[in-house]
Order: sequence, then structure tokens, then C-alpha cells
Amino acid sequence: MSKKYNKIILVTAPSGSGKTSIVKYLLAKFPQLIFSVSATTRKPRENERDGIDYYFFSEMDFEEKIHNKEFLEWEMVYEGKYYGTLKLEIERIWSEKKIPILDIDVQGAIHVQQQYPVNTISIFIQAPSSKELRKRLKGRGSETEDSLEARVNKSSFEMTFKDHFENVIINQDFDKACHEAQNIVSAFLTAD
Ligand code: 5GP
Repeated sequence: MSKKYNKIILVTAPSGSGKTSIVKYLLAKFPQLIFSVSATTRKPRENERDGIDYYFFSEMDFEEKIHNKEFLEWEMVYEGKYYGTLKLEIERIWSEKKIPILDIDVQGAIHVQQQYPVNTISIFIQAPSSKELRKRLKGRGSETEDSLEARVNKSSFEMTFKDHFENVIINQDFDKACHEAQNIVSAFLTAD
């Protein structure tokens, strides 16, 4: 297969920094991109569909796939909740001559970069401040007090990994952040 299609786009950020919305924007702009659906053991949120937003697995099924080496990477992103990228998902997208775009946590993104050091681009989306982050997570309404605290704490930790990524976008102004991301992806897609 042409090298042209064996590319990977990683979009990573602390939770609540708006990366999912930026990924959706990029998917709408570039028809050659396909969202890489991750597997997780967390419960679906309202409006989330199995096979579209995530593959929702039981812990037993997820652990079996870890054992069978079916993941390109996996992490226990939050206490007791697994998230991972299936090798088959990436291969399926490449076989359709499309380019996978991954919405992935910081550690997962670093693992993918280590496995695919060429033809991979990483974009780190930074939330403006932890106060703003807390406000956004509250606004989303999907977190309990505990899970919100866990996400805010994890976010400060994840910020320390920012320098591992080639591109950092501060999501202060959403439209501006989307355009920056669009320019980065556009340059990456046109490069050999
Ligand atoms: P959420 O529960 O808000 O959907 O996702 C929580 C975190 O898990 C986010 O930072 C998201 O990017 C990350 N995540 C989603 N899919 C994967 C994956 O396949 N692997 C890893 N390592 N992280 C993921």
C-alpha cells in the first residue's frame, strides 16, 4: 500500500480542553480522515453509540484483547477504566485508503508515537486554565464530583507532557484553535 495512506493523526489533551470538538471539526473538513473508534470499559454517556463513539467492552473482553495483543496501545486512563486503540481499527482505516485520527490521552499518544515515529503527527490541545477546565467539565454535566476532581488532577499531570508533542494549540478561542489545527493537518496531508 502507498506510504501516503499509512499516516496517523494524534489529537491529545487533558480532558475538557475541547479536543473532541476539534477532532469533529477536522473530520468535517478533511474527507480523507476517519475517526479511529477506541475501545473502553467505561459506561456510554447519553447519545453515545457503540461502534461509533467507542466500542464499549466488558472488563473481561478488554482484558482478553490485551492478552491476545490486539491493542496498538491501551491505558487505564481513569481509575478502573480501560481505554485502547485496536490494531484492527487502524488497519481497517488504512485498508480503505484513509487516514486515522485518534482522540487519545497523553500517555497513549506517546505510545503510538514510539511505535510509529514516522508518518505520525501529534497535536496537543491545551485548555486555557484549570479554572476554565473545571467550568467546562461542569458544563458538560457528565461528571460526578469525584470524577470531575479526578479529571482536573489528571489534567495538571498531563500538562507536564506537553513538550513531547510537535504542535501545541491553546484552545482559548475555539474558532482560532480549529483553524490552527486545520493548517497543521493540511500541511501534514500534502507532505509525502
Ligand atoms: P472520555 O471518557 O472523556 O471519552 O475519554 C477520557 C480520555 O480517554 C480522553 O483523554 C480520551 O482522549 C482518552 N482516550 C479515548 N480513547 C483512547 C484510547 O484509545 N487510548 C487512550 N490511551 N486514551 C483514549
